[in-house]
Amino acid sequence: MPVPTPLTDEERAVYEWQIWIDDFGEQGQERLKGASVLISRIGGLGGVVAYELAAAGIGKLVLAHAGNVKPSDLNRQLLMTHDWLGKPRVESAERRLKELNPRLEIVAVPENVSEANAPGLVDQVDLVVDCAPLFEERFAMNRAAVVQGKPIVECAMYDLDFSLTSVIPGQTPCLACLTPEQPPAWKREFPVFGAVSGAVGCLAAMEAIKILAGLGEPLAGTLLSCDLRSMQFSRRSIRRNPACAVCGGGS
Ligand SMILES: [Zn+2]
Repeated sequence: MPVPTPLTDEERAVYEWQIWIDDFGEQGQERLKGASVLISRIGGLGGVVAYELAAAGIGKLVLAHAGNVKPSDLNRQLLMTHDWLGKPRVESAERRLKELNPRLEIVAVPENVSEANAPGLVDQVDLVVDCAPLFEERFAMNRAAVVQGKPIVECAMYDLDFSLTSVIPGQTPCLACLTPEQPPAWKREFPVFGAVSGAVGCLAAMEAIKILAGLGEPLAGTLLSCDLRSMQFSRRSIRRNPACAVCGGGS
């Protein structure tokens, strides 16, 4: 977990309105300043997570996303701009985040998470937010984070539905407990509005802030599912799989 880092007067001024939150306070802000977060993909979902964490005063973000900005990114990937079409996504993201928070340290990695790079990426941070659409990336991230004991905020969306949970290794189910194998019907490209990825991105950023600052009750062992067509939100308890190949299950 993060080592609290003292604030400057400028930071006290910038974060004043959130420092007023009683159970967060200057101590919580110092923890965010000392914190580092890896975001796997910074598209519709991860871009909003990154933007909210940059605004909240996280000290360091490691951003992993391969490829260049495409026209079809622009309905939801809010860190990507028209003038950056055809150029690397991580560069557009870094530029936009620095405009918002020039104090933020950014490690921009122009690669998607894989079995090969996941351990090294996870090793650089206190917490991971998994916003990748492909299960091979998500499984690699889950495995590395569970081995290193780092919390993961897990997000998924499709159409107007999304779900969210937080994995605390050793305490809660991991991704492989919930989904041991890729669902057969899973597709790389899927229907979604930017307002849906933005909604789940904001909730995921709040989960990350809560876990890092020790605030409130994260969705540990609970799956939040939301249907934005009918605005129905539901929660259910989830259990570790004793036979899980990644976390070894629970007692
Ligand atoms: Zn597991």
